[in-house]
Amino acid sequence: MQKHSNFKDFTLITPTASISNDQYGGRAKCLQRLIRLDMPVPKTVALSFAAVHAIAAGQLPDIAGMMAPFGKFPLVSVRPSSQDPDWGGPGAILNIGMNNALYDILCNKIGHGAASRLYLRFIQSYAVHVARLDAEAFEFPEKSNSDAAQLALAAYEDETYEPFPQDPNQQLAEVLRSMARAWEGTSARLLRQAKGAPADAGLGLVVQQMALGLGAGESGSGVIQFADATTGLAKIAGRYLSQSQGRDALSAGSKAIYITKDKRGPSLEDLTPAAFEELITCGHKCRQRLREEMQVEFTIENGNLHILDAVRLPRSSRAAVRIAVDLAEDNIISTQDAILRIEPSALNELLHRQVDDTAIRDCIGHGIAASPGAASGKLVFSAADAQACAAREEPCILVRRETTPEDIRGMHAAQGVLTERGGMTSHAAVIGRGLGLPCIVGATDIKLNTRTKTLIGSDGRLFQEGDILTIDGTRGQVLAGAPQMVEAGLDDSFQKLLGWADTYRDIGVRANADTPADAQTARNFAAEGIGLCRTEHMFFETDRLIVMREMIFADRPQDRRASLERLLPMQRADFVQLFDIMQGMPVCIRLFDPPLHEFLPSSREGLRELAEALDLPMSDVTARVEEMSEFNPMLGMRGVRLGITVPEIYDMQARAIFEATVEASKGGQAIVPEIMIPLVTAKREVELVKTRIDAVAAAVRTELGASFDYRLGVMVETPRAALRAADIAQHSAFLSFGTNDLTQMTYGLSRDDAGRFMAAYVQQGVYPEDPFHVMDLDGVGELLEIGASRGRSVKPDIVLSICGEHGGTPASIDFCRKAGYDYVSCSPFRVPVARLAAAQLALRDK
Ligand code: PEP
Ligand code: MG
Repeated sequence: MQKHSNFKDFTLITPTASISNDQYGGRAKCLQRLIRLDMPVPKTVALSFAAVHAIAAGQLPDIAGMMAPFGKFPLVSVRPSSQDPDWGGPGAILNIGMNNALYDILCNKIGHGAASRLYLRFIQSYAVHVARLDAEAFEFPEKSNSDAAQLALAAYEDETYEPFPQDPNQQLAEVLRSMARAWEGTSARLLRQAKGAPADAGLGLVVQQMALGLGAGESGSGVIQFADATTGLAKIAGRYLSQSQGRDALSAGSKAIYITKDKRGPSLEDLTPAAFEELITCGHKCRQRLREEMQVEFTIENGNLHILDAVRLPRSSRAAVRIAVDLAEDNIISTQDAILRIEPSALNELLHRQVDDTAIRDCIGHGIAASPGAASGKLVFSAADAQACAAREEPCILVRRETTPEDIRGMHAAQGVLTERGGMTSHAAVIGRGLGLPCIVGATDIKLNTRTKTLIGSDGRLFQEGDILTIDGTRGQVLAGAPQMVEAGLDDSFQKLLGWADTYRDIGVRANADTPADAQTARNFAAEGIGLCRTEHMFFETDRLIVMREMIFADRPQDRRASLERLLPMQRADFVQLFDIMQGMPVCIRLFDPPLHEFLPSSREGLRELAEALDLPMSDVTARVEEMSEFNPMLGMRGVRLGITVPEIYDMQARAIFEATVEASKGGQAIVPEIMIPLVTAKREVELVKTRIDAVAAAVRTELGASFDYRLGVMVETPRAALRAADIAQHSAFLSFGTNDLTQMTYGLSRDDAGRFMAAYVQQGVYPEDPFHVMDLDGVGELLEIGASRGRSVKPDIVLSICGEHGGTPASIDFCRKAGYDYVSCSPFRVPVARLAAAQLALRDK
């Protein structure tokens, strides 16, 4: 190995040494903080990223100089110090410096057995990690009368034809070199990149004087923490093992003892109260001054405490929230800090049940993680079977090629939904998120046979109706069986954190909610109103579906009106409930949007049932259904086009909204409903609809002798509506951008079919992400900007929002804040994530 004479990029860690996280890594920086707090930290030298990088390239620093602080017979450990502790690094190596001379000295000082164990441990690590020999050659049965260290020395010589290196400087140099090279190897790099590290992330190393956990008096090592890693609640935990080193106590099972007094067995507190007291004081100081919940590694050497290291306590998302809130409540960090410490998407883990991190996953398929959370249940292949399961109170997982509005009730009955087709904004995905139901769509590696009611997993395994499956909608994995779950955890700390977030947030957050249950969820999550109520979802209840179908089949306007009159009171009751639940907060109701034939059955069985219900010949029903079918329904007769060609539907809905407004306003403050027109492309569409709705409003006012206001707005979800926003804004109190359809139409990409090839597109870098999942800020974003500025040019105070599925993601919230939008609207279960993300953006902008 080439020597590099003037290279000396290492430093003894002192309170004043110049050590930064991005040059020496987190561990070195943290050790300096502990030293500044006067903790009993053994002498430590830190190597910079540059030094370690040079070592990997064969340039050795001044090893003798590095060893100098550790005296004539140095005994040290080397541990990794990466910039972010989560990026990992090579394992620690202890007892560097052990050689025959030191062994003899230690035999006298701490006894033969302890000295031999120290030596053995070093030879083992050196042989395996530095000389890259097989570990088995260095494992010896514990025999009292043969010295394992001597056996290991002989084994080393046998394997390498060289004596075990005796020069501590050479030992250290080789250890440093092997650790530096391990960090730069491909597999380590890929591993840390997967955890978010940049490709060129640096590694620092720390060389620390060993505190002997073996030998005379009370000696041993342990690990202590002051909060529970799962719940985050304050609780001292950890283990201590006499006559041990490093983190041995954690793997020692029942030989290790508790830290605090414990009914289950002996504890460090009983064993050595003085060292215990000092340890607790150090722990509290750590929390106060490092402003973080730490896990502390310590050694007791002949009764004296040494603090070797402290790392940020690894924690679940739930614990992260609790810990941040507790630190803020104890005035250790500010509420702003607490808000900034939580990754918004981590809240998903609290909002839904999840597969336990430690559970074994028997994965049989993958798809798009369309709605987070996990659920297990019996496999069913139809909505009817899902309902039957629910009636028997058996949890079930509904598997469909794709879902249609007919499946809604089955989805309500199921615990999770899996579809072979579809993308992030397909029917199953949107409904799943609305219901908080775990959902995977576009699982193209499973094969479904609805006729034989079987499913073949990606590995060829066959599953039948009734078999137990688990949907992990957070990761997009289909699992066989029912692994252990962790329950959702909306505790007081979660509520507190979000309450704080709201005080910093500067953009509104509303929810997309279609049903009273959705609205209640939205309120529970403190949404500031409903930004999108998709009224068509109210027609899927069985009793309504049949009336809806009658209306669709009506030949004459008067027959259609008769059916609509039966739907009117049902819609009115829906709206009264929504207004009541939202208690005066804004409710934006979108008029009917989907093509009518979505409400018609597609199977022969369904058609027969419909013929029976309507008392029509099967041939009539089939002919009508065929007549209505469209080649490209999403671009066909839907949205405002229905409002113009079959205006009775919007008339009925407007009347239901106004009558509900009058009724719900009786008890308290006047409600001002917002009515939104979908799929607009031209100003004239708005004028025509507005004229009729104004007429309905006038009629209701006269009939009920009541006065009320309403606000009419337009959903901007076609590129033309964005481009012509100046025309459209003239008749609109608000513009709400529907980014699902807008993405579909901007790209010319089907919401329901894009899942089939999206993975290939993203893999080959055609698109950076699925644009239905992550908003396309360049293209769709430009339309959002154009629409907003043209709308404002004619009406400066026009209210702007987005209500597509992108509404809850941090990137689109950031975009909307910058473009001056008033609010975002997203699925109820995304509201907390949006509230936190919006607060973080506002805080970072300060
Ligand atoms: C949209 O298109 O973005 C939207 C919110 O409406 P829907 O998903 O109901 O088409
Ligand atoms: Mg739409």
